[in-house]
Amino acid sequence: MSSYLEWMLGVLREAVELAGLPHEVYEYLSKPDRVLMVKIPVRMDDGRLVVFEGYRVQHNNALGPYKGGIRFHPEVTLETDMALAMGMTLKNSLAGLPYGGGKGAVRCDPKKLSTAELERLSRGYARAIAPLIGDQVDIPAPDVGTNPQIMAWMVDEFSKLKGYNVPGVFTAKPPELWGNPVRIYSTGYGTVIAAKAAAYRWLDGFEGKVISIHGFGNAGQYAALWASRLGAKVVAVSDTSGTVYDPNGLDVELAIKVKNETGKVVNYPKGQKLQDPDASLYVDADILIPAAIENTITEENAGKVKARLIVEAANGPTTPGAEKILYSRSDFVAVVPDILANAGGVIMSYLEWVENLQWWFWDEEETRARLASIMEKNFKKTADRWEKLKTERSDRLVTMRDAAFVLAVERVYNAMKLRGWI
Ligand code: NAD
Repeated sequence: MSSYLEWMLGVLREAVELAGLPHEVYEYLSKPDRVLMVKIPVRMDDGRLVVFEGYRVQHNNALGPYKGGIRFHPEVTLETDMALAMGMTLKNSLAGLPYGGGKGAVRCDPKKLSTAELERLSRGYARAIAPLIGDQVDIPAPDVGTNPQIMAWMVDEFSKLKGYNVPGVFTAKPPELWGNPVRIYSTGYGTVIAAKAAAYRWLDGFEGKVISIHGFGNAGQYAALWASRLGAKVVAVSDTSGTVYDPNGLDVELAIKVKNETGKVVNYPKGQKLQDPDASLYVDADILIPAAIENTITEENAGKVKARLIVEAANGPTTPGAEKILYSRSDFVAVVPDILANAGGVIMSYLEWVENLQWWFWDEEETRARLASIMEKNFKKTADRWEKLKTERSDRLVTMRDAAFVLAVERVYNAMKLRGWI
């Protein structure tokens, strides 16, 4: 069994136990509802026929249509896809969305395909999974290796099969084709809304708070931009080239421009340049936003982190061992977990789907306000539950992540119970 699937099953078992639910909830949710394996034959530009393998896993639809991204990556396996689909059931549940969880994948290296080959593969995958998806059934979106252009090809292919336009069957489409302009920055923006809510609850406000950001891609750049727009002071950002640091605050728009024009954030012309890409993890800051990759804050380096609050934009940046070390610090407040803090993308997908179903499109400000309000509500319910759980279970360390998973599993359980499934 893949280690990721084992890890995910462990998380599920622990959440079921901590929520005090019957073990059969674990049995039920440990397996997906349905797994589809497909082959996608693609005629390559040089005339060869390559047969790709793909999957669509539908994990659980107690709360609504299956929802989750499509990954194009050379190392995807069915088991990883099953684990990711289970994760989506929990993420969508915690986010309060009317969605179950699903995930799709194609084993391929999209970087090695020409644009025409990528288009043929994307259309072929959409055709192959078409019998099992639909705007009321299963709604895919991008994930690692896929993007809005790929969603545009897929929505077009699906619509051609049906004979009419079905905009709501894929989300995170380009704004010009039934998408929404907020989508591009929704993850980073949502993370900042979570950080702001946490700072108001536990750190006497957000404005003027010192923020450091590890990772400067889509999630990191927009987190930096919105943190500074909403009044915090971003002092450090890093990518694989190194870290730029200015205790007086960085010019975030300039840092983004430099990163996108030169590929390296260390070409930022002001402040101090630090060679270590991890230096942003250790600078003096109130809030640290890890926005790069998984396993960034580990047992080895958690002791060097000075921030009181960690708000996870990346998936899985803080290991369980690191969390134990952080929470043992008397001034440490919380790790606001990825499942809560980086849900802005999927919440935005939900808003886009609602727009698509009604053929009624909100303007950017209105959409952003809706996204912020859902993020704030989700933060509050998780923080409330965490505080309650801590007093109930004083026999053990209860993290904010634990509370998030308890809430997620409870909501799915309640729906399944009401429907008579369990
Ligand atoms: P991205 O590829 O756009 O950016 C990743 C950034 O991290 C790059 O700037 C890269 O240089 C930097 N990086 C990588 N390894 C590093 C290291 N060891 N030290 C310092 N910097 C490093 O990716 P992204 O879309 O911004 O995603 C980042 C994280 O956020 C991932 O964990 C992803 O799963 C998660 N996430 C992203 C979204 C989204 O909508 N983009 C949604 C949910 C979760």
